[in-house]
Amino acid sequence: MIQRIRDACHTCEDQQEQGLFAWHGFEINTPPTWELGSYHGGYSSGDATLDDGVSPRLHLTWRTASRRRSPIERMLAKIKKAHRKRWGRNASFEVISAVPTCPEGQSQRYVRSSTPEASGLAWWCRACGRSGVVEEYHSRDNPSSSASPILDSFRDHRDDGTRLWSAYGLSFELPTTYLECRPSLSAGRLRFQLLASARNWCVVERWAMASVHLRRLPLNKWPAELAARVSPKLGPLTLDERATVLQYPAIHFKTSRARVGAAIPWLHTPTEGLLWQRPESDKLLAVITHGPACDLLHSIAAGVRTI
Ligand SMILES: [Zn+2]
Repeated sequence: MIQRIRDACHTCEDQQEQGLFAWHGFEINTPPTWELGSYHGGYSSGDATLDDGVSPRLHLTWRTASRRRSPIERMLAKIKKAHRKRWGRNASFEVISAVPTCPEGQSQRYVRSSTPEASGLAWWCRACGRSGVVEEYHSRDNPSSSASPILDSFRDHRDDGTRLWSAYGLSFELPTTYLECRPSLSAGRLRFQLLASARNWCVVERWAMASVHLRRLPLNKWPAELAARVSPKLGPLTLDERATVLQYPAIHFKTSRARVGAAIPWLHTPTEGLLWQRPESDKLLAVITHGPACDLLHSIAAGVRTI
């Protein structure tokens, strides 16, 4: 399935955002051929693996940590113990330098010999209240060394109140209040739902092969279909086909005022969206907002980047 998502991505001409992986506040620059292979968990704890199409190349794991005391020493001891248990007492494990990845925390780099060799970064952030490990796996053409531009590029949070999401060449930014992410990443279709609460959320979607989808359903019929997926009870939508997102013609749609005042409490909350096509990369993009997120609709849409 992952390979099919990649194939869909690689048909595009503009590859500007490839090589950036951003997930639950983490940002890391990787070679353009590395892509997300698996992911679990959420903001508080989880893991993600990037691979180069053949082997795993990067593994991130994170968890909630004390904001007062650094767990770095304990984490390193645990990694070293597990490494020697697996590879023998003489397996090399070298702590090589302390790289400040974050002014609010601590981090420590290491290199371990095994198959494959790996460079690691153990980090802790007092501001996020999280700690974790990033490991880069080396191959024969990319042997381990004390320098690792990939690990050096790792950031665990931004300082401007925003969080970037970026995978498979799709990236967008949201305020940090949208903490919970429900991704649904399948072949040809990426969907991220980011929630601040049950009545304040945003969906960012991308379809590959837009021309094929548009033969089935013209663009101005899509808002009703999208809204029906959000809730079959949203009712008729008001469409404005003169909207734009950056330089692209777009359709702006929203729930009608009559429905927003309806008796079902959930429907008091407005839903609003933007839908546009990127003909040069044959993609369809949509941002759908619900509740207070509607105020951010245009700025979120203008910030969506895709290959
Ligand atoms: Zn942090």
